[in-house]
Amino acid sequence: MNEQRPGPEALGASARPRGAKEIAPGVYFLAGFGNTTFLIGSEGVAVVDPGLFINGPRVVEELRAITDLEVRYVIYTHGHYDHAFGTPAILEDARVRGHQPPEIVGHANVAKRFERYAKTAGHLAQTFDLQFASWGEGGGDVVRKAQYCPPTISYEDHLELNGLGDRVIECRHGLGETDDHTWVWVPDARVIVGGDFIVSSMPNAGTPFRVQRYVLEWAEALEDMAAVHPVAVVSGHGGVFTEDAEEMLSVTAASLRWLDAEVVRRLNEGQWQEQILDEVELPAELAESTYLQPLYGCTSFAVRDLLRRYVGWYDGNPSMLFPSTRADIAAEVLAMTGGSESIFARVDELSAGTGADQQLALHLIDFVIFAGGEHAAEGHARKADLLDARAASEQSFVAHNVLKSTAVIERKMATD
Ligand SMILES: [Zn+2]
Repeated sequence: MNEQRPGPEALGASARPRGAKEIAPGVYFLAGFGNTTFLIGSEGVAVVDPGLFINGPRVVEELRAITDLEVRYVIYTHGHYDHAFGTPAILEDARVRGHQPPEIVGHANVAKRFERYAKTAGHLAQTFDLQFASWGEGGGDVVRKAQYCPPTISYEDHLELNGLGDRVIECRHGLGETDDHTWVWVPDARVIVGGDFIVSSMPNAGTPFRVQRYVLEWAEALEDMAAVHPVAVVSGHGGVFTEDAEEMLSVTAASLRWLDAEVVRRLNEGQWQEQILDEVELPAELAESTYLQPLYGCTSFAVRDLLRRYVGWYDGNPSMLFPSTRADIAAEVLAMTGGSESIFARVDELSAGTGADQQLALHLIDFVIFAGGEHAAEGHARKADLLDARAASEQSFVAHNVLKSTAVIERKMATD
C-alpha cells in the first residue's frame, strides 16, 4: 500500500522532514523533499539521501532521536539538489560527537554532475526559481548557496558496503532520471530505497530545463528492482510502497517501455516531432493507473525527451532551418492584421474557452509582445492572465510552477 498519495502540494518543499517511521527492522523513512532513509546496523548507520541543504539539520535531529551510532555512510541515490545536499549537517554532527566523518557514497557520475552544476550555476539558479516557484521566494537559492560534498567512494555498476556491522547494503546503478543514479538494496530487510526512479507520479522522464533522461533504461532498472521481490520500496518523492510494490514497479516500467516503443515506431514511419507530441498519449489502462498520474512529470515531457534522445533538432519544417526572429515575424503579422486590437479581440474570445483555447491565445498574444510596439505592455498583462488560467488546470508540479512563475514575470514586464 502506498502510505501517501502526493498531490503537487505534498511534493512541495514546504514539507519539512519530520517524524521518521520504521518501515522494516532498522529501516527508517523520513518524508521530505526528497525523502531520506536511515539504515541502521549493529555498528553504524547509513543515511540514504540527506535531502536539501536547508533540511540537513532536521535530518540529523531525526536520526539522533533514533540512535547515537556513528554514521558510516551517506549514500546519494543521485546528485540532485533535493537529495545530496544535506550532508554538511551530518559532517558537523560527526565532528561534534568525535565520530569519524562518514564515507560519502555515490555513482561515478555524481562528481561529474557536481562539476557541471558549479560550471552552470547561474543558469541553474534561474531555472530553479521557475521550476520550484511554489517553494516561495528563492527556489534558486538551493543552487546559489550549494555546498558540494562529492562522493569519497564512487562506483560504476555495483557496490557492496560492509561497514555497518551485521547489515550489508548493496548499491546498484541504473540509468533513469539521471546518469548517476543508484538504487539501494537492503537484502536482510528486503527493502529498496529507489531514489527518483520512483516518484509516486508519472516518472519525471523529461523536464523542460534539464539534461537528457533515460526512458528505456529507467524501465529496465524498475524491472531489476521487481526481480528481487522487495517487501518495501521507498520513493524519492512521495511515500513507501509495500504490498503493491512489485505491481507499481512493473506498471511504471510498462509505461516507459510503451512510450519508448511508440515514439520510435512513429519516427520510423516518418513522423516529425509536432505530430508525435500532439498525438502520443498513454493507453487508457496505463493513463488511469494510480501510479502514473501526472503529479510531478507528465507524458508530453517524457515524449520530448525521447525525441531529444533519438533525433536531431530539425523539426520537419525547412522554414525553421534558418528561422527569422520572432520579432520580425510578429511585426509582419501585426502589419497584416491592422495592429494589436484585432488580436486582443480574438484573445478575449479564446480566453473564455478551454485549456486548448487558452494555449492558442498565448500564441496570438506573443505576436503583440514580440512585435514590441505600444501595446506590448498590455500584451504582457494579458499573457500573465492566460498563464495563470493555464496553470489552474495543470496537474504537473513542474508545469504548474513554470506557468505560475512566468506569469509573475510577465506581470512585472507589463508595468516596467
Ligand atoms: Zn528528486
